[in-house]
Amino acid sequence: MSATTLKPHQKELFGQPIGLYILFLTEMWERFSYYGMRALLVLYMTTQTIGDDRGPGLGWTNQEALALYGWYTMLVYVMSIPGGMIADKLIGQKKAVLVGAIVLCLGHGVLVLTDIWAFYTGLGLVILGVGLLKPNISTMVGGLYREGDIRRDKGFSIFYIGINLGSLLATLIVGLVVKEWGWHAGFGLAGIVMVLGLINYIIGQKYLIHVGNLTKDKDDPNEISYGKLYGKLFKSPVQLSFTVILLLASAYGWYKLEWGYGLLFLFLTAIASLLMMIYRELDSQVYKDRFMVLLLSFIMVIIFWGAFEQAGGLMNLYTETNTRRMLLGWEIPTVMFQSLNAGFIIIFATIVAGYWAKRQLKGKEASSLFKMALGIIIMGFGFLFMVFAAMEFENDGSSSMLWLVLAYLFHTIGELCISPVALSFITKLAPVKYASLMMGVYFAATGLGNKVAGIVGESASEFGEYAIFLGILVFTVVIGALFIMLLKPLKRLTHGAEDNEREMHNDETEGFELADPKLNN
Ligand code: GLN
Repeated sequence: MSATTLKPHQKELFGQPIGLYILFLTEMWERFSYYGMRALLVLYMTTQTIGDDRGPGLGWTNQEALALYGWYTMLVYVMSIPGGMIADKLIGQKKAVLVGAIVLCLGHGVLVLTDIWAFYTGLGLVILGVGLLKPNISTMVGGLYREGDIRRDKGFSIFYIGINLGSLLATLIVGLVVKEWGWHAGFGLAGIVMVLGLINYIIGQKYLIHVGNLTKDKDDPNEISYGKLYGKLFKSPVQLSFTVILLLASAYGWYKLEWGYGLLFLFLTAIASLLMMIYRELDSQVYKDRFMVLLLSFIMVIIFWGAFEQAGGLMNLYTETNTRRMLLGWEIPTVMFQSLNAGFIIIFATIVAGYWAKRQLKGKEASSLFKMALGIIIMGFGFLFMVFAAMEFENDGSSSMLWLVLAYLFHTIGELCISPVALSFITKLAPVKYASLMMGVYFAATGLGNKVAGIVGESASEFGEYAIFLGILVFTVVIGALFIMLLKPLKRLTHGAEDNEREMHNDETEGFELADPKLNN
């Protein structure tokens, strides 16, 4: 077909479908609004109600702010499970992203208002919006490529850079806007860029005609019915018993802790029984083992984000109150430190991917599980610098910002070892028809990590920053080492899923493949 007769969705730019750039920009603006707002959140909540030159805050204690921050950052990602399910079963990924983007515009818009109801409503809408948008836009990227298309990995690398470009711009600009015009201008900016993301997505629809559509066929034997899976639970004594035990634990959690935990445990029980039923229904031991090792790897995901996500919470507060931020006579706004992670990702993404590719070519250990475990250890070592910072603060009453730079550098290298690798790992090991659901479960695992981060961060007011940073360092290094020790048996459970791929293409990048069978045609 000559270039002139190509339909818009078949056209390419720099060797990639133009749809990729539409999704890149939509996700870039969405991440701008998410990370811009996230960077402000705990600072806004803990600023006194009489306020400073940024305007009044909510006057909460650090502990109260970190508790809400933990719930919020958990829920945005946990909502990826219903977000993925709604797309799969009801409206398709493309409409889900559209609805998510509209809800996000409303959410960020509401946050411009100063009333407390607006604060909670805005956060609620952002949670729903991200839940609909985030997993589905990732699945749509996968849908741009046919199965086996070698451009897919590169496409995901480009997409991941879009994520971090959004985050980088947000954390650089939002801090300055807040310093000049106050908190709500910062929230407003997040809203405006989300409108840009929405407009870009709507205008770009002609490039996305072939992806993210609902393909529902009742007679298709591959059609997933969650209802049927739950129905079968009542005929499966082992899975039913586990579900009852989890339900009792949820009720106890509700009674002992608070209703929020009760609801969370109930939700997790529902997901756990679904996963148990999927495991039971898988028709070969190979699939069952792979499914199991994938779920085990999610433990690493939770632990990683539980430590890493101190960034927006405890480390953010530490930067604000304990760090010397003067550079050449200018005080760097706290929020700007949040841009180090995204900046380092953009610098190091290809270097880290290249390192793994070289290692693999030399025949050295470079499995996803190894990279993920090593990622935890490297990120954990970042906390060594926070330990030094806390020591300096205890001696001198403030600490150098160099410690934060080094901590974020290690955190980023760790993230590059685990985050894109895990996305790719899911697509290699998840049963194809459950790939979207498993993507949702993956994001939910990162969300649980965010909640853990909040709980750990909150306890700093009891134990002090030094003890918390040291605790995270020791715990993460030990867990990472433990997974490396268990590497052999875990790898056995993958049944060579990665070895085959290695033989198929020995290219330079670690992929971000997403397989959605419905969209790959
Ligand atoms: N920083 C990445 C993003 O915003 C990863 C987030 C996550 O997996 N929780 O997409």
